[in-house]
Amino acid sequence: MTAQVRSTAWHSWGGNLTARPSVTVRPDDSDQVLHVLEEAVAAGKSVRPSGSGHSWSPLVPTDGVRLDTSALTGLASVDEDRQQVTVFAGTTVHQLNLILEEHGLALANLPDCAHMTVAGAIATGTHGTGLGQPSLGDQVIGVSLATPSGDVVTCSETHRSELLRAARVHLGVLGVVLTVTLRCVSAFRLHCAEFREPVAGLVDSLQERMSGADHFEFSWVPGTSVAHTRIMSRLHRLSATYTRPASPISRALRRTDDAVLRTSLSAGLGRVGALMPRAVGGLNKIGSMAVSSRRYTDISYRAFTASRPVHYVASEHALPLEATAPAFRELKALVERDGYELTFPMHVRCSPPEQGYLSPAAGRYTGWINLRQYGKRPHKTFFRAAEEIFVAHGGRPHWGTLHTRTAEDLASSYPHWDEFLALRAELDPDGVLLGEHTREVLGV
Ligand SMILES: Cc1cc2nc3c(=O)[nH]c(=O)nc-3n(C[C@H](O)[C@H](O)[C@H](O)COP(=O)(O)OP(=O)(O)OC[C@H]3O[C@@H](n4cnc5c(N)ncnc54)[C@H](O)[C@@H]3O)c2cc1C
Repeated sequence: MTAQVRSTAWHSWGGNLTARPSVTVRPDDSDQVLHVLEEAVAAGKSVRPSGSGHSWSPLVPTDGVRLDTSALTGLASVDEDRQQVTVFAGTTVHQLNLILEEHGLALANLPDCAHMTVAGAIATGTHGTGLGQPSLGDQVIGVSLATPSGDVVTCSETHRSELLRAARVHLGVLGVVLTVTLRCVSAFRLHCAEFREPVAGLVDSLQERMSGADHFEFSWVPGTSVAHTRIMSRLHRLSATYTRPASPISRALRRTDDAVLRTSLSAGLGRVGALMPRAVGGLNKIGSMAVSSRRYTDISYRAFTASRPVHYVASEHALPLEATAPAFRELKALVERDGYELTFPMHVRCSPPEQGYLSPAAGRYTGWINLRQYGKRPHKTFFRAAEEIFVAHGGRPHWGTLHTRTAEDLASSYPHWDEFLALRAELDPDGVLLGEHTREVLGV
């Protein structure tokens, strides 16, 4: 088969998914992608594209053809005046940030990690935080896709705009994404202020705090009464002379703080907690106390993202903004009542209403609650119990994280569900790009 490479087992970043595809291909360009699709159709095989494997839900695993997009990378074109960039689908968010920096540009908002690919990230509705700033998908203004029928289909805000809305959160079922065009902004810096504060008072004024900041997020370590808040403010474009005094800790010091206190410590706590589950509560208190308040200024993409050396599993839900505080209180009570031992903090973020048909934040201001657990510790019972709370508050699952919802209960919470399914059926009538999980969540 075209572009075939040695087919070894595939593992997700979180370590919770493994697959052994019958064929793995790594096409170099669009023509090779089209050939792969043609050959798969002829052989009656299904095809699942894969990005960086950063999803926890089984979107990628297949026993058919895994289409590795890691050779489809780099800049296709940039228009500095119109502040638009087109990159190949397998470009990572990190590579994209560096490309944009060279052209004096940046993305307006980013997720907290930069290792996912651009096509993979938009597939699942990857978001950052901030009520006034779009997720990755809403910064997309054009997509080109290779379809199993051998066509390259394009869409933009003026050409097939309904397909653009579907492609903004595509789940890898509309076609193999070849290129993505994004609207950018001028490069900017962020001032970050991180504090420890009582979690109860913070949750009481959550909506106000979220709407009062450019980018607001907080995390809470179970077993403690303290929240760690992070407020990021977009700086005006002044020369370096003006902005330098706003950065009282250097980047080197912050990275040491991140590596030693915030990640190694939680890795250590996770490992010790896996060996001595009863110690988790006490360890969490130590970990929470070790994280200090700090302020710093940095280039936007460096402030938005951090490295994630400790692997974990996650379940995240998008809630109507006003339901976020009540849902958080119920989750906190659940953890405290049932004594679930979580070795990672719960993380709360927010986003504006989104355009993508299947965006979990579609059509409403959204609060995101993210639950994480060290990979070797039990998570299923807690994630299930938490999901009931999320569902009761109108939550929609993040497509890339763990959940148990199926099409039957998801369809009614997406106003444009049928439009998405109609476009999928038009572009891939024989379901070549469907896998077991996508069939289940889409009901096709
Ligand atoms: C450490 C870490 C931090 C994270 N932080 C955030 C965060 O801050 N915010 C957030 O919302 N999410 C976050 N996530 C989740 C992550 O962004 C999503 O799961 C994302 O989809 C992963 O992208 P990927 O490149 O790894 O794609 P994969 O997980 O490999 O694939 C995801 C989907 O994309 C499809 N796909 C990939 N490439 C193509 C292509 N070229 N054409 C068609 N389909 C394609 C796949 O078929 C699959 O359906 C995080 C995950 C991790 C592990």
